[in-house]
Amino acid sequence: MSDHEVAVYRGRMDITVEGIDVPKPVRMFHEAGFPGYCLEVISRLGFIEPTPIQAQGWPMALKGRDLIGIAETGSGKTLSYLLPAFVHVAAQPPLVQGDGPIVLVLAPTRELAVQIQQEAGKFGSHSRIRSTCIYGGAPKGPQIRDLQSGVEIIIGTPGRLIDMLEAQHTNLRRVTYLVLDEADRMLDMGFEPQIRKIISQIRPDRQTLYWSATWPKEVESLARQFLCNPYKVIIGSPVLKANQSINQIIEVVTDVEKYNRLINLLKEMMDGSRILIFVETKKGCDQVTRQLRMDGWPALSIHGDKSQDERDWVLAEFKSGRSLIMTATDVAARGLGRITVLGSFNPY
Ligand code: ADP
Ligand code: MG
Repeated sequence: MSDHEVAVYRGRMDITVEGIDVPKPVRMFHEAGFPGYCLEVISRLGFIEPTPIQAQGWPMALKGRDLIGIAETGSGKTLSYLLPAFVHVAAQPPLVQGDGPIVLVLAPTRELAVQIQQEAGKFGSHSRIRSTCIYGGAPKGPQIRDLQSGVEIIIGTPGRLIDMLEAQHTNLRRVTYLVLDEADRMLDMGFEPQIRKIISQIRPDRQTLYWSATWPKEVESLARQFLCNPYKVIIGSPVLKANQSINQIIEVVTDVEKYNRLINLLKEMMDGSRILIFVETKKGCDQVTRQLRMDGWPALSIHGDKSQDERDWVLAEFKSGRSLIMTATDVAARGLGRITVLGSFNPY
């Protein structure tokens, strides 16, 4: 592509780039230089062209440089870092007995970690690259077995990963490709000490990649401490704004009015759509769920105090539409895909 074509393409795709020596985007899958099996899986999945974050993020990630990638939910960020991760792994010496992973993907919640691994699994099953998911709330035994048999890619939540490191079930000495998915949340919302601890065990010349749908200013300076000469790519407006494809209605009501207002909304909206009700606290979540059930609304709930099995089951019921109302704390705030209604409700 000529510089002019690049500018036109970036303009059309709403791509903004920052950094030194930014590579040109790739307009088609085969231009990215991925192994044949990746292209085969892509065509089997029926993908037609790279999404904008992939078009610009892939050549950046494949340069081996650090990067910050910002694009809205559902824009294909997972493959933006996973496919370059496969290329990265293939270029490293094979693991030997006692080696930890080469790629580490950190995610804020178990739900997201599991989804990322599913995406990795679609491609990994066609290569010899193994991946596993390390997250709290599930038995450690199978996770330890995976770690001990050797995995090139770990996708994990910070707490359980630190447990595994402290118990020496794995180590980060071979990590050269580090991903923080939903990075703003990872850095901003209380994970910073754990992230710091994990990063301190990884060699400083690693490649670090951040991906997020939102990128508040406050996160930027914190984020940059762990990056070296990064690229930055933003799809859409560089200014944080609400997703234009979602109709957002905000009502301000007093605490005592909230529950009745919720019931009235449910009555208006119950047309077979799935309804997700966010509640600020775990306790509030339990209270609203109990009250709804007593009032004849069969709500299910997920939050951080529920067992992993229960969370998995509730999420599956909700996603499949077998159960139409789910209450949740922000464990469900990301990565659930396209759900019809998002209610935000803080009752107490
Ligand atoms: P994000 O992390 O940006 O929210 P995901 O990586 O979860 O988005 O991707 C959302 C969905 O889009 C997934 O089901 C994924 O398989 C699909 N997807 C990814 N890349 C493409 C593409 N190039 N064309 C079509 N669908 C894609
Ligand atoms: Mg994602």
